[in-house]
Amino acid sequence: METKGIVIKAQDYKENDKLLWIYTEKLGKVTAIAKGAKKSKNKSFSITLPLCYSDYLLFKGKSLYRLSEGKIINSFQGLLNNLEKLTYSSYLCELIDISTEDGEKNPYLFKEFLTALYLLDTDAIDYELLIRAFELKVLKATGYEIDFNNCVFCKKKINSSNYISLSYYGGVCEECPKEHGVYLSRASFNALRFLNSATLDKVYRVNLNEEMKEELFKINSFIISSNYVRKPKSLEMLKFIKE
Ligand SMILES: [Zn+2]
Repeated sequence: METKGIVIKAQDYKENDKLLWIYTEKLGKVTAIAKGAKKSKNKSFSITLPLCYSDYLLFKGKSLYRLSEGKIINSFQGLLNNLEKLTYSSYLCELIDISTEDGEKNPYLFKEFLTALYLLDTDAIDYELLIRAFELKVLKATGYEIDFNNCVFCKKKINSSNYISLSYYGGVCEECPKEHGVYLSRASFNALRFLNSATLDKVYRVNLNEEMKEELFKINSFIISSNYVRKPKSLEMLKFIKE
């Protein structure tokens, strides 16, 4: 099977081989073995590096795929030379890893992931803004979209809100009870709503001050941590480098 894919994780395996987790356009997330990839002279070496975006030729084995060859489209190695970018891109990979199942195809998420890496690479957008928007795309793509348009209790249409229910993932209107959720500023609510619906290349249009960034971070982190198989670890690293 030939498919475009991005290496989200790589580790050494047996003597000269590497085990790769590749998020692919046609097969979703796959685990593949790359024979002989540990020897840097091997021509397949560069296509097995984390973040590498390539055309891959994969063969299905008994339990793992076997990577036979590939052609680099963009290695994104520039993201590895800057600690902040490295941390953010590792986080994007980790988020893809924890939010998707093996073999679950999702071309929408694949496209958003790729766009996020390109935007991170070109410095086009405030990193944090991009990360928050990407988190919302991941939630949306995996069935946990936050509802910013209707009250989660009475379903009435809302223009804005100052409360997000963390049990039903969405805004709450003036009349409904404010429980099991968090208060936030209306500006943050509106920013979240915009980031949720805008395409990633348009998210620069919103401006976040530090207080809003903190509110968005808290809400997204809570929903991500409570829905996926494990909590992303690089989130803590992100907090650490920001301080
Ligand atoms: Zn209501």
